[in-house]
Amino acid sequence: MSRINTRRVTATATHGATDHAPAITFDRVNVAYGRGRGATRALIDFNLRVSPGETVALLGPSGSGKSTALKALAGFTQPVSGTVRLGGRDVTDLPPAKRGIGVVVQSYALFPHMRVAENVAFGLRSHRVPRSEIGGRVSDALAMVGMSAYGKRFPRELSGGQQQRVAIARALAIRPKVLLLDEPLAALDAQLRQSMLTELQQLRAALPDTAMLYVTHDQSEALALADRIAVMRDARLVDIDTAENLWKRPPSSFTAAFLGGANLLPAVVTRVIGTSALVTVGGTPVTAQAPQPEIGHVDWESDSGALLCIRPHAVNLVSPAERGAMPARIVGTVWRGASTRLTVALVGMPETPIEADVTGHDERPVGTEVGVRFPDQGAVLVPAPGPVS
Ligand code: ADP
Ligand code: MG
Repeated sequence: MSRINTRRVTATATHGATDHAPAITFDRVNVAYGRGRGATRALIDFNLRVSPGETVALLGPSGSGKSTALKALAGFTQPVSGTVRLGGRDVTDLPPAKRGIGVVVQSYALFPHMRVAENVAFGLRSHRVPRSEIGGRVSDALAMVGMSAYGKRFPRELSGGQQQRVAIARALAIRPKVLLLDEPLAALDAQLRQSMLTELQQLRAALPDTAMLYVTHDQSEALALADRIAVMRDARLVDIDTAENLWKRPPSSFTAAFLGGANLLPAVVTRVIGTSALVTVGGTPVTAQAPQPEIGHVDWESDSGALLCIRPHAVNLVSPAERGAMPARIVGTVWRGASTRLTVALVGMPETPIEADVTGHDERPVGTEVGVRFPDQGAVLVPAPGPVS
């Protein structure tokens, strides 16, 4: 008994693992593809910590380095420098199969010549799960994704959504503490994506101790699933916070625009009192929120480069005669069923058109004169982007 305990302590000390460590740690990870001048730096000084049970979405445009981060953690690519840790244990030099991570990719990657149950069992064998346990583990995993009745089928006999469920079951069968999902819904059609998103939410609730890293370029998936969102751009992490904070008070114009679409208007800050600002947009006074980030004080009044961020649904279109409204003209209109997206150009600011969402089918034609109003505190200040880095 005491010998086992001693060995355990030794093993812990060697690998640096502790119960309180983050489930996932990226510590200044750099990844490059190719060498020398022609190399692509796909991940630059990437830092991230994910707590046990937490879901973090890596959100960013195509090519921003999301999959590379995931591959570095799974062991499919080797960092040039930096370390990745699982539960505090440095796994940077460990082969993928030894990391005990569940991985789900966009293309399902099922073995076509193996039946569903064999596909799910495959990982268990390579993880040396005792033979007597395999059947039960396969059943449990298939049940979790609602695929119990399909164990005998081949992947080609399943729809895309069903194949992706099997891929998720295969990842879950090893009962990983860490689950990585790389655009798992991207290959599915829009309707199926919606129902799978609901299923993933249920799965998350059913696995309260599993940390998840969920890669997507789709902000609605990130908003629906993630406790926190890490926004990526050009191989770097640009912002990380709860979905709500990023959406309500975006720390950068990039995040403001990428997360949900935003109007970003050049604004002159007149006065700031606490978290409230008086600004002018095209000469019209507007009140806005002035967030005070904990790190890096922003002096809205003297840092001349502030943008006013206002979401399309928050823009009010009123009569052009209304007092205090900014005169504008409709320059574009797209009916979207439940709402209409109108593009309006402010008089004197035609170069920064504003998008406004109006409920229902708005049939006002292009050319109609309107008034634009921003509700009190309905807009938020965002630092203007500095010189391109
Ligand atoms: P994302 O998943 O955000 O779309 P990736 O991590 O796949 O982005 O890619 C980041 C960058 O690295 C891109 O410029 C991409 O072209 C490049 N890249 C990715 N994989 C490879 C590879 N195997 N060889 C060379 N370049 C790669
Ligand atoms: Mg990718």
